[in-house]
Amino acid sequence: MFRRPMRPLRRAAMRGVMRPNQIVLQAVARANNLLAQGKPNDAAQIFERLAQEGDARGLAKPAANAHAQAALAYAQAKNENTALTHARTALTQFAQLGMAQRAPTFYNNIVQKLRENGMTNAADALTREFGDQIKTLGAQGVGAAPRGRLPSKCPHCAGPARSDEVEWIDAQSAECVYCGGVIQTEG
Ligand SMILES: [Zn+2]
Repeated sequence: MFRRPMRPLRRAAMRGVMRPNQIVLQAVARANNLLAQGKPNDAAQIFERLAQEGDARGLAKPAANAHAQAALAYAQAKNENTALTHARTALTQFAQLGMAQRAPTFYNNIVQKLRENGMTNAADALTREFGDQIKTLGAQGVGAAPRGRLPSKCPHCAGPARSDEVEWIDAQSAECVYCGGVIQTEG
């Protein structure tokens, strides 16, 4: 009897990370389109709903990622308090999950986005509350090794595979935040 090698999705299922359903991926696509159309507030509300659903269903990484996306979109919409709330939740969850790459990447992105949009108070609050913790966590990461280019979609679940929204494992592979599958870089 031969055994097939375990596929990432199966491993993800065993770890309790569920395969995202088509509705979630459609919502992510719709939110990203709204962002591209200059409607960050509408996009933020979709990410916020995905985050709440992820929290309710115990999908830790997808929920944390959706909170992060909601924070960035609300920052772009200049909704300072709501952006700050989601940023705090995302950073707390990333740190709890030990996401040593994703946490500092998001931290840098959100602080920069808040400052760009004149929301100095929120940026200062995040720096004060999370700066040291993120620095310590980031030091455990792989470091600044040059990374390969990811395909646009996760080969396992077809979720978007943006290099700043995945958890890098090494320079050639990253973990999909939606399904937990391993995405190899191209070329
Ligand atoms: Zn995936």
